[in-house]
Amino acid sequence: MIEGHAAIDCDIHPSVPGLKALLPYMEPHWAETLVQRGMHELDSISYPNRGPLTARVDWQPESGKPATTLEQVLSQLLDPFGIDTAICNCLYGVQLPFSEDMAAAYARAVNDWIIKEWLDKDERLRASIIVPIQGAEVAVEEIERCAGDKRFVQILLLVAGETMLGRRHHWSIYETAQKHGLPVGIHAGSSYRHPSTPVGWSSYVSEDYVNQAITFQSQLASLISEGVFKKFPELKFVMLESGVTWLPSFIWRFKKYWRGLTMEIPWVDRPPEEIIHEQVRFSLQPFDAPEDEATTAKVLDHLGSDDLILFSTDYPHWQFDGQDVLPKGLPNELIRKILVDNPRATYPRLSAA
Ligand code: ZN
Repeated sequence: MIEGHAAIDCDIHPSVPGLKALLPYMEPHWAETLVQRGMHELDSISYPNRGPLTARVDWQPESGKPATTLEQVLSQLLDPFGIDTAICNCLYGVQLPFSEDMAAAYARAVNDWIIKEWLDKDERLRASIIVPIQGAEVAVEEIERCAGDKRFVQILLLVAGETMLGRRHHWSIYETAQKHGLPVGIHAGSSYRHPSTPVGWSSYVSEDYVNQAITFQSQLASLISEGVFKKFPELKFVMLESGVTWLPSFIWRFKKYWRGLTMEIPWVDRPPEEIIHEQVRFSLQPFDAPEDEATTAKVLDHLGSDDLILFSTDYPHWQFDGQDVLPKGLPNELIRKILVDNPRATYPRLSAA
């Protein structure tokens, strides 16, 4: 299906097998203290490692966590799908500790692990810089430490952290990202400082997963309203695993109230959809439209631009079966844009590396 294109997969998830794998990349103090504290379960706090959404059934190994070895990623994803380039977004629990120093130590270890165990071993792989969002100062330090390696093409945040992403205390992170030509990827997930709903904790993973879309909308409203896009006009934000079908109604609603309330946020000096069309992108999977082609075409039409969607498999998560990674009935021109042109336009370092 994606043959004939140099497809760029913008969201794959190599997995840290466990704390032991990171210890060689830790400073001695942290290697010792993390073992003493029993932090080896950090990587399985949020979603169960072998749960149905965490890994597609046929991509689960007989034992251990999925997507922990290069061989798995090659044989299950890159080779059978004919993927030319894949961006590794490692969802380890770096954003969970309350200590900024510990989070920074984890981030350094994960980023160095990604370089040595993945990027150095296959030239098709790129990665996002994992950022200790707990503190802007340590986050900027980590971006500066890694940015010289052009195989890092993005910085990675979770959609739900301690505070709204538009707030000023995050702006030095965005300034550093823009300076280095690194888009800001915002992935589904939480540091669990707050419930995934505005009215308290939900009981089930199903609710939590559905509710991620609400959090994406809240963060997008924050980034627009606080003036982040005006302040950083060269910066792109990529919503990863956000879904896209909520976007048209979000735009319609935001535009209506923006018109009536422009005196409150005068720095938002153009309609929200213009800002989104220029500076926000969305990964393809999980594609949350119904399966019939006519509805898919309507949804894509309502997005108002062919530039927004970036190809992703979300490997090894179970977002589709078999090879059916693209929605049915897409025109060839749009397929090419999703697979190649849009990712290249979003990630300048893909062309530079
Ligand atoms: Zn993902």
